[in-house]
Amino acid sequence: MNYQKLAERLLPDAPSVDGFESKYPPRNLGMNAEVTRLAPSPTGFIHLGNLFVAIANERIAHQSGGVLFLRIEDTDLKRKVDGAVEAVKNALCYFDIKFDEGAEIEGDNTYAPWYQRQRADIYHAFVKKLIAQGRAYPCFCTEEDLSSLRETQTAQKEITGYYGKYAKCRNLSEDEIYRNLDAGKPYVIRLKSMGNPENKIKFQDAIKGEITVTENDQDIVILKSDGIPTYHFAHAIDDHFMRTTLVIRGEEWLASLPIHLELFQTLNFALPRYGHNCSLMKQDGEIRRKLSKRKDPELSLEFYRQEGYFARAVKIYMLTLLNSNFEEWYLKNPEKPLDEFHFSVGKMGKSGTLFDLDKLNDISKNELARLSAEEMMSFLKAWVDEYGTDSQKSYFKNQEYLLNVLNLTMGTAGKKRRKDFMTAKQAVELISYFFEAPVCPDESRIQRAIKNQILTSFLASYDHTDDAQTWFSKVKETATTYGFATDMKDYKLNPQNYPGSVSDVAEVLRIAVTGKSNTPDLWSIMQILGDSETRARLERAIEE
Ligand code: GLU
Repeated sequence: MNYQKLAERLLPDAPSVDGFESKYPPRNLGMNAEVTRLAPSPTGFIHLGNLFVAIANERIAHQSGGVLFLRIEDTDLKRKVDGAVEAVKNALCYFDIKFDEGAEIEGDNTYAPWYQRQRADIYHAFVKKLIAQGRAYPCFCTEEDLSSLRETQTAQKEITGYYGKYAKCRNLSEDEIYRNLDAGKPYVIRLKSMGNPENKIKFQDAIKGEITVTENDQDIVILKSDGIPTYHFAHAIDDHFMRTTLVIRGEEWLASLPIHLELFQTLNFALPRYGHNCSLMKQDGEIRRKLSKRKDPELSLEFYRQEGYFARAVKIYMLTLLNSNFEEWYLKNPEKPLDEFHFSVGKMGKSGTLFDLDKLNDISKNELARLSAEEMMSFLKAWVDEYGTDSQKSYFKNQEYLLNVLNLTMGTAGKKRRKDFMTAKQAVELISYFFEAPVCPDESRIQRAIKNQILTSFLASYDHTDDAQTWFSKVKETATTYGFATDMKDYKLNPQNYPGSVSDVAEVLRIAVTGKSNTPDLWSIMQILGDSETRARLERAIEE
């Protein structure tokens, strides 16, 4: 067989491979510098798994003085969505992931193009070379041929796929090949595998440690009929010529590792290191399962932005899951920039990691409680600007008022802070009663008629200039007037003697003014609301 002639016939326009090595030279970086990448498909769906890998890649690259780049794997047009690249960048930027190079990134473009669809000439050059070497061949099998092959193999309990004796087109004669080509039959290009599945290879995975893989013997497709490479082939070419040193990717790719090992060897490229990252799992009742796009809104990164999660809190949780010693470091260094933590690939989880939204919520509350009122204000504003209603936007008109509200609802900085705020969305809802008269739920157990008497009597005695103590003595007076206990000890011993206690009275007032039964100090709230607003709310509650 004249392979050279076949290569010319199949890819007449492909350039020679000479020149690519010097066009994309090894990077000029320090000894231990790592080059890592994120290589998403532009499907428009950016998920927690992407962020998980992105944080690891970012830390590994930047901590070693290396490079993180963004490559867009757009070989599958069916999955492509407009605006997807912007979406990736924005989603990751929110979590402070900064790329040094890549698609739509301002940076060095030595290793561009960053979109796989724009790299056809490089792929074609190397496919042509493999054909010329007799290591790749055209396959004319149709979809039907392949599915009937699969059926036969399944019926015979054999491994499915295109390999060994089943790789029909591998053994076509020169004549047959040219006859098919002349007849215009569509074809793909397959790798002619030299592997033997009897051979087991010991492989050192940067995350999983030593694993054993079986040599590949599948004649996988490297170039599809439309001239676009498969993931496998593009991965080998791109990560070689972009000079990636460490490929961190989801463990779903582990099964393809033997193929990649053979491709790198056949192409005569040095193998990068690989780390296969464990999947994020969710505890669902009794079972532990992978987070699912359909069932779990928290899988999408959009979720965290829409809810207004504090990016640092998400990052802290991700780091906790990524590196077993992070939590301890963080407890000792809560104020330090997260980048001072030394990230190590060797400490990444080897098997499924449990993602627990409640845990994240706890971390969020703690982290938000560290902010000053001013910082909280800008955090909330950023969320409200993007997702808030017009009425929520108006909360930011009077900043002094808002700062008073935040100082009260968060508690004084330095002292023990309240930990009520979890996300921007929830925090903004929590303080809404300072800006909009609340809808008062009828949740207190005190009868309607008595409630009105309490409200009327308290309103009559209300003086906005009262200090907290005087204010409370008036609440007590109202309580006594209607037979409520003010002596809590006695109330606990003889609850049957009273309709309730002074705290029930305070609750009636609290709900009337705030719409909530649990708030910071009520006197302080009334002070912030002001005299006329406080009165208006009490009056409204009476009328209702
Ligand atoms: N495009 C692949 C994916 O989104 C990239 C896998 C890799 O990082 O190599 O799963």
